[in-house]
Amino acid sequence: MNLYTRVRLNNDVEMPWLGYGTYKVRPEEAYRCVRDALDVGYRLIDTAAYYRNESEVGRAVRDSGIDREEIFITTKVWNTDQGYENTLRAFEDSLKKLGVDYVDLYLVHWPVPGKYLDTWKALVKIYEDGKAMAIGVSNFMEEHLDHLLEHSDIVPAVNQVELHPRLFPRKLVEKCRKEGIQVQAWSPLMQGRIVDIRELQEIGEKYGKTAAQVTLRWILQHGIATIPRSIRKEHMMENTDVFDFYLTLEDMHRIDMMDRGERVGPDPRKIG
Ligand code: NAD
Repeated sequence: MNLYTRVRLNNDVEMPWLGYGTYKVRPEEAYRCVRDALDVGYRLIDTAAYYRNESEVGRAVRDSGIDREEIFITTKVWNTDQGYENTLRAFEDSLKKLGVDYVDLYLVHWPVPGKYLDTWKALVKIYEDGKAMAIGVSNFMEEHLDHLLEHSDIVPAVNQVELHPRLFPRKLVEKCRKEGIQVQAWSPLMQGRIVDIRELQEIGEKYGKTAAQVTLRWILQHGIATIPRSIRKEHMMENTDVFDFYLTLEDMHRIDMMDRGERVGPDPRKIG
């Protein structure tokens, strides 16, 4: 496995296991950050209408000179744009800002109660029109997935959820696996807090790796994709240097046991 290795999604589209996240990357920095990330070798860029950096992400992708087909672009429909017609409009706006004629993955950012089914129907239309190569959801818990699967023949390709050593939603991961939905971990580094956890540093010392690298490796070894963010090129590089070691079953288990149900983002059951 390396930075270019892809996971085959349930519709046969292939998505890099490891990508670059752009939440909180300010528009004035986003162009340089995405150019750096592509230069380091990342081939998946995760953005969202909500991040307000789609224009800069798109410009960086174009200016990189890398073929569009080699770069996997994910974006998401924001909560206030949900509902069928609004989502179709929001999608066109994202396409325009990104300056592309298709995205690789379009996600429902959060399961807004009373709206997300209609939003999903719009994503299905976008998918059938060939403007998104794959569609998926984000922050969907078991009950949201059940509700969606009851009403749709198209199974989401991806569920992007908060997941790190302090929040390991095993049942949700199992359910996604059973349904053929690829889990992708957001805030894999707990927005930076992971690096201060002594136990992860200790595990890292055995392998000559940092707490961040151990964490990303643990996620990948669980068959979960992920999208760490950093605006510093040395951290971008550090976060890709996770393919030359293998955590023992014992260390995997040790990290599994660090779960405290601790979130850095909102609880998906309490939004709306
Ligand atoms: P993250 O867990 O990736 O952590 C980012 C922070 O960690 C930054 O402050 C960075 O400086 C620090 N960091 C990165 N690498 C480091 C290293 N090697 N050593 C020390 N510090 C390091 O946080 P995130 O940005 O919240 O999550 C990643 C991505 O997930 C986002 O950028 C976004 O694309 C996506 N995301 C999605 C949702 C969603 O609702 N779907 C929500 C949040 C984030």
